[in-house]
Amino acid sequence: MGQVSEVSAKNESKVTSHSHIKHLGLSSTGVAITNDTGGFVGQAEAREAGGIIVDLIKTKKMAGKAILLAGGPGTGKTALALAISQELGPKVPFCPIVGSQIFSAEVKKTELLMENFRRAIGLRIKEIKEVYEGEVTELTPEESENPLGGYGKTISHVILGLKSAKGTKTLRLDPSIYESIQKERIVIGDVIYIESNTGAVKRVGRSDAYATEFDLEAEEYVPLPKGDVHKKKEIVQDVTLHDLDVANSRPQGGQDVISMMGQLLKPRKTEITDKLRLEVNNIVSKYINQGIAELIPGVLFIDEVNMLDIECFTYLNRALESPIAPVVIFASNRGLTTIRGCDADEKGPHGCPPDLIDRLLIVRTLPYNIQEVRSIVLKRSRHENLSLSQEALDRLAYLGSAKSLRYSLQLLSPASILAGVSGRNEIAAEDVLQAEDLFIDAKRSALILEANSKYYL
Ligand code: ATP
Repeated sequence: MGQVSEVSAKNESKVTSHSHIKHLGLSSTGVAITNDTGGFVGQAEAREAGGIIVDLIKTKKMAGKAILLAGGPGTGKTALALAISQELGPKVPFCPIVGSQIFSAEVKKTELLMENFRRAIGLRIKEIKEVYEGEVTELTPEESENPLGGYGKTISHVILGLKSAKGTKTLRLDPSIYESIQKERIVIGDVIYIESNTGAVKRVGRSDAYATEFDLEAEEYVPLPKGDVHKKKEIVQDVTLHDLDVANSRPQGGQDVISMMGQLLKPRKTEITDKLRLEVNNIVSKYINQGIAELIPGVLFIDEVNMLDIECFTYLNRALESPIAPVVIFASNRGLTTIRGCDADEKGPHGCPPDLIDRLLIVRTLPYNIQEVRSIVLKRSRHENLSLSQEALDRLAYLGSAKSLRYSLQLLSPASILAGVSGRNEIAAEDVLQAEDLFIDAKRSALILEANSKYYL
């Protein structure tokens, strides 16, 4: 999946700070479990509401509607949206954006909204392929002198020993194939498969994961042993409609859905136009009708909904009606505020116009108490393999409730570096205090600005 996820990686950094969140942490009756191992702390009502939302989505009762998570900064709105997408099933796309992100000098905002809608719609493609499958018995890079001189030895071929039901084969593979195998961490003893394309290697992969498709010209494929040890295998690939748009926007993009995947690392050559999206939709519909592909609507999370303007809201109202719309979860930490793009005195709850508000299920997230902050800091530190002394944890818990949870979590990494500098593995209170001196929180920064306003422009 390396190549596909590279394309989707743009939003990954927004998700990594929530990597301790695994699910909503609800019992079978939908009640929030206290001390759940899934990563969520407190916020019981919001999590339970999340569970009901998951049921509504699964029973297709969310059509035309959307969700709004309303609560102060750092109260877990993004974490909750992520957990909802996790509850919807494995590999359900989660696309988090911030309202202001869709304003760009080059691209129309509705165009960027559309792009993100398509990032949040998954497609699971299942194909039955003839593959060569065997157990790896040897994995030897064969070195040779580089005929061009320069850097000395280069790998010319890779010998891959494969044992299968019909005997053992030794394949000499092109080094680029070896690199791809290494990316998937294939080791001796693994069962892997090789998809053959007219007797040449087309894809290699672990049999428990999707194969890598090589970016090789046909004549570079290394011939597979002819005739035997072929078996049928179901190959599953998860992509988003946006991945397909990108893959297809390149001149080389083939018409076969799977073959488009291999193109994903090449730089974008042409623009994604409405016409191209329509073509992608047509291919996708064809595959869905043939039973090869299945749509997996995911979650589009739009933080700071008040940053959107009336044009975006009009677009969203229409887009929500689409039969393939993802679940849209808005978030806001604003109260009654100006609706952008309307008259200055026209206000709406969270900056949303009344027709959007009408479609929303609104869930509140509440501020945390000090014990909850303490548990969140502890979970996060464990997740990052950091150890904290009691005093350091107390200080971070205090900072989380007195300043902000974000601030407290942000100090974890600098504090661990400071602990390391002092030759300690465990973060001590003094490391946290030192980190506080180096990185000030927003409230203190505002006070400093106020007190020193004459030094600023
Ligand atoms: P903002 O309004 O600033 O966008 P937010 O409400 O979306 O903030 P998050 O980004 O979800 O807040 O939370 C901040 C950090 O705290 C994240 O790392 C998140 O995973 C963690 N966090 C928040 N709430 C919880 C919780 N209840 N349990 C565990 N971790 C949490």
